[in-house]
Amino acid sequence: MVKDQFAVKRHRMVAEQIRARGIRDERLLAVMGGTPRHLFVPSNLSARAYDDGPLPIGDGQTISQPYIVAEMTAALRLAGTEKVLEIGTGSGYQTAILCRLAKEVVTVERLSTLQASAEITLRESGVDNVRFRTGDGSTGIPDEAPFDRIIVTAAAPGVPPPLFEQLSEGGIIVIPIGGRWEQDLVRVTKESGKERKDFLGGCRFVPLIGEFGFPD
Ligand code: SAM
Repeated sequence: MVKDQFAVKRHRMVAEQIRARGIRDERLLAVMGGTPRHLFVPSNLSARAYDDGPLPIGDGQTISQPYIVAEMTAALRLAGTEKVLEIGTGSGYQTAILCRLAKEVVTVERLSTLQASAEITLRESGVDNVRFRTGDGSTGIPDEAPFDRIIVTAAAPGVPPPLFEQLSEGGIIVIPIGGRWEQDLVRVTKESGKERKDFLGGCRFVPLIGEFGFPD
């Protein structure tokens, strides 16, 4: 467990924002309790890193609310053996959580400035099972496929067909689907090559910009 000046805030975040709202995955709770979220936000916002909401990270983008990170990660049902594709690296915080719960992670971000700073933070945090790509993640990463899990941390108008194609049989995609301003969080499971959708509730994400997302 990381001991730092934010440890009390972090443990309160896990207890009051995540466990109290019904997340019971003890591996996930322990990882969120041990991951220094304050390192993934701009330094002038570090005192607010454990607040119950998203925060700006520059370039008009956000680090997601801690509960949303927990809900999306829990929905992936990670056992520790999976190869995961993450679309939307952002600050790298969600990436750090995935890296501690899965075997390996490929993460893609369209904004090179964010990708560069996330890479530095993750390397300094000792994360070594991640590979970084810059570009439009809505088309997936064909040369790294197939993936056991795919998480999209930006809102899409629908499930991008290349992502479903790059998903293994039995695999799971977690993605916010809807309009630019409001979406449903959806878990898509590949069963005998077909989509099964479970709706997990309403959410609000920045848009996925790209070929299978929204126009810039
Ligand atoms: N999970 C991130 C975190 O923990 O900080 C938050 C991600 S933020 C809500 C969404 C990110 O998706 C933004 O950084 C944005 O630039 C990125 N994004 C949007 N469209 C994208 C695309 N087509 N491919 C890759 N990244 C994209």
